[in-house]
Amino acid sequence: MAEKSKIAIHRIRDNDVKSAVFQALENINAQNLLNSEGMVVLLKPNILMGKPPERAVNTHPEVVRSVIQWVKQFNPSKIYVCDSAGGQKPGITEKAMKESGIYDVCEDEGVECVPFEKTEREIYEIKDPLELKEISSSRLIKEADLIINIPKIKTHWQCTLTCCIKNMFGTVLLANKAKTHAQAAILERFCSALVDIYSVSKPQLTVIDGYYCQEGQGPSSGDVVKLDLILAGYDGVALDTAVCKIIGFDPSEILYLEKAEKKNLGTTDLKNVEFFGETIESVFRKFKRPKLRPISMPLPRWLADYLGKTIFRANVKFDREKCKLCSTCWTNCPVNAINPPEEIKKGNIPKWDSKKCITCFCCVELCPHEAVKFKINYVKNALFSWMGLGCIAFLAIISLLFLWIFNFF
Ligand code: SF4
Ligand code: SF4
Repeated sequence: MAEKSKIAIHRIRDNDVKSAVFQALENINAQNLLNSEGMVVLLKPNILMGKPPERAVNTHPEVVRSVIQWVKQFNPSKIYVCDSAGGQKPGITEKAMKESGIYDVCEDEGVECVPFEKTEREIYEIKDPLELKEISSSRLIKEADLIINIPKIKTHWQCTLTCCIKNMFGTVLLANKAKTHAQAAILERFCSALVDIYSVSKPQLTVIDGYYCQEGQGPSSGDVVKLDLILAGYDGVALDTAVCKIIGFDPSEILYLEKAEKKNLGTTDLKNVEFFGETIESVFRKFKRPKLRPISMPLPRWLADYLGKTIFRANVKFDREKCKLCSTCWTNCPVNAINPPEEIKKGNIPKWDSKKCITCFCCVELCPHEAVKFKINYVKNALFSWMGLGCIAFLAIISLLFLWIFNFF
């Protein structure tokens, strides 16, 4: 019988993050991964944007510090802390690393904090691709002896949950992330792309930051929840499944989990997992959901694409009071559906082109001032689509036929 996967769940008591991280890693015997001296270890936290730790947008710096200190006990030759932030502007990851507090932690601990885009690039071919044939990432992914994923528990507009699998999207370099969004505009396809990326950058170990989390409209403008948890394990699919259960979400609605399981990247069946520390029930805390509920239907790709571009199309709005015309949304929209106003002055807002928009939510996710809102009007979208008009025409013909037959008799 195959050995059971292991997951440790520990509470952070009195803000003692280090004890929780060390206990969780000891429970699952993670030290066995660092069995030779001089290893190169790559840590991949979630560094989405320049926000302070109390906003719970990025992995908490104390969780990163604790993982660094745990790794240092085993005399590695090098520890890298890397990510590529959301957005395309040069310098955006450095800014996010500094403002998140992670850069200072790395300085204190004497390890390198490097944006992936500043490392050597490598094109990775994807075996049995679901969506992407290759990805452009960092050479460190293949050069590191050990990759440790350090995601954060947050809800996500588009994917419902962002944690282990979704965090490895950050190994794709800046502009290529936008390209992936544009290429896989429909949620179903975007989730397939996430699984392809995870299959290349699959970490051997994961430590989940459940210290301060986000619920509701995450991953950047949700409400902060002090969950005080650390989870550790080897199987990102099982860990994401456990996180869903802890926050009261149904794992079957996280589209990338089933796809990852089918691609043999892990299990969603928690009967195959041995738990240590707390139980899921003992730490249960229901999270507010994001507004959108993804719908998964076994449809042909052309039909799923069509529905995504019509019925599920969002209406993007900008808040005049909050918008600072910082340019983040128009420089990062993967399909140039946002343009600056004619004049950059207070009270003006960016211009949005509904025809170009692919409803990827990058603008919502990346706006540093939480000034982008969206609404999906399913009924209006359906009525004004070719499919909706076709259905109306069909119903009209049936009604006329019915009236004609009725009069006839
Ligand atoms: S909506 Fe947000 S991201 Fe766009 S310009 Fe305004 S403040 Fe910047
Ligand atoms: S306008 Fe916003 S939601 Fe639409 S494609 Fe651009 S970034 Fe994505």
